[in-house]
Amino acid sequence: MTEISFVKQRITAARSLTVLSGAGISAESGVPTFRGPGGLWKNHRAEELATPEAFQRDPILVWSWYQWRRKLLSTKAPNPAHTALVSLESAVEHFTLITQNVDGLHQSAGSRTVITLHGDIWKVRCTGCDRVFEETSLNLPALPRCPVCERLLRPHIVWFGEEIDAKKLSLAIDACHSCEVMLVIGTSAIVQPAASFASLAKEAGALIVEINPNPALHDCADVSLTGTAAEIVPQLL
Ligand code: NAD
Ligand code: ZN
Repeated sequence: MTEISFVKQRITAARSLTVLSGAGISAESGVPTFRGPGGLWKNHRAEELATPEAFQRDPILVWSWYQWRRKLLSTKAPNPAHTALVSLESAVEHFTLITQNVDGLHQSAGSRTVITLHGDIWKVRCTGCDRVFEETSLNLPALPRCPVCERLLRPHIVWFGEEIDAKKLSLAIDACHSCEVMLVIGTSAIVQPAASFASLAKEAGALIVEINPNPALHDCADVSLTGTAAEIVPQLL
């Protein structure tokens, strides 16, 4: 039996499936990953821009990077990997999709419930009153202001050094503990706590399947499907 048909069989038999996706799942939609080619912007690394310190020092710079990313994303569409996960969601009794991506492509593909661990680039949050707004305009002012209290708005993103929303984290951990199969797609497994989700699921007895052209999970993966997300994920249906 091939590895693909083995995984397919396990998915078919499973009552619960958890998926963890990272920047790699959107690579074939033309969205650059942070650590791959095209990951730099005006010679800045993401780690220098996606921090609360950077925003405090130079909010115009940070906002212009996000505006550039939002404009780039507005020209991109979900790929067959995103679409295949929509079908899996309706095929499996308990399905949870945890994503580290902020691009909104799972949602625009039609995934109904997505745990957006690191936030959502199409949302903004007020630095004064903490309100969150959906904001899809590509023509925001250089420093957008809260419509309610006039204070500075920031992207609704979890920056390096910031805490993940406790409710999202606990839903994600529950889904790791309770799944029979976990698919880990397109993540370099460097950024915590998502990097340890696969070990949590494995300790709880799940089959760990990694999908990545450059596998990163090493010993933690039970099956490593070496290939791109758009190539492999549709074959698991
Ligand atoms: P990463 O950039 O660290 O790693 C990307 C991984 O995807 C690598 O392991 C690479 O081998 C793999 N990959 C590349 N092309 C692939 C393909 N076609 N199919 C499958 N896998 C492929 O990404 P990360 O682990 O998600 O961590 C980066 C952090 O940056 C995350 O926190 C995320 O929030 C953020 N980020 C998000 C986006 C997005 O929303 N699309 C893009 C860049 C970064
Ligand atoms: Zn406000």
